Amino acid sequence: MKPRGRFAPSPTGPLHAGSLVAALASWLDARARGGVWLVRIEDVDTPRCVPGADGFILQQLAACGLTPDEPVSWQSQRGHRYQAALERLLSTGSAYPCACSRSDIEAALAAAGRPRERHQAAVYPGTCRPGLQGRQARAWRLRLPDAATVHWLDARLGPQQQDVAADVGDFVLRRADGLWAYQLAVVVDDAEQGISHVVRGADLADNTPRQILLQRALDLPPVGYHHVPLVLGPNGEKLSKQNGAAALDLSDPLAALQSAASVLGLPPAGGGVAEALALWTRAWQAAWCAAT
Ligand code: GLU
Repeated sequence: MKPRGRFAPSPTGPLHAGSLVAALASWLDARARGGVWLVRIEDVDTPRCVPGADGFILQQLAACGLTPDEPVSWQSQRGHRYQAALERLLSTGSAYPCACSRSDIEAALAAAGRPRERHQAAVYPGTCRPGLQGRQARAWRLRLPDAATVHWLDARLGPQQQDVAADVGDFVLRRADGLWAYQLAVVVDDAEQGISHVVRGADLADNTPRQILLQRALDLPPVGYHHVPLVLGPNGEKLSKQNGAAALDLSDPLAALQSAASVLGLPPAGGGVAEALALWTRAWQAAWCAAT
């Protein structure tokens, strides 16, 4: 089977300089491997989605010469697949319902002498692991295996590891508001779409160990990971739609692609968009595909 990659934007706004880096890198990786490139719209977190942003993102990609090889998919249409995966995890004891609110979790951590540090996500203390004890289920969580330290190799970042039990705890698969968690949706979709190479922004690298544990719990094949550099804004923070990053200027797609390519360490290219993409595909191949 051919290698398969994907770009998976959340339609919370138009593409900006940072998201184009991930789009271009995943496209180049798929092309350099002689593979297939897909686009998946990650619109599970409906309150954060902006109407029309999906169509606009697809137009922006097309203007940059990045067109998917198969029909685009939308996560909002795939709830039944996430439900089936959750049911499978429940049937094998790898998932359980949880009745805890955020304040229940903070109170349990404080009582255990492990209060949450400011700005740090709470590590779930496992309150509902033994059962709901008559309380009402709000969310569903993955029951981490006893050995929850994950070692993985990132093509750019090198060997990585995380003790998911110590850093995250049993994490949410379906949220209290009924929405599917990103971790579950991404793992189910990557597997169903036969994705072999995940190329995405380095801000997502710390989700990888959770996704690997979910793949194992669902008996899904492992994939390769390559996390690309982030574009930082003037304040040194990651450029994001939330901090008001400007939408890509579609009047000059080559200039936008050139800046994305330079973040990826690729050489300047002359000619038009097609010539530039061909040059960068060869450079990407030499840099990243020889050994993997
Ligand atoms: N939807 C995620 C985002 O836009 C990307 C998910 C992924 O590539 O795994 O940040």
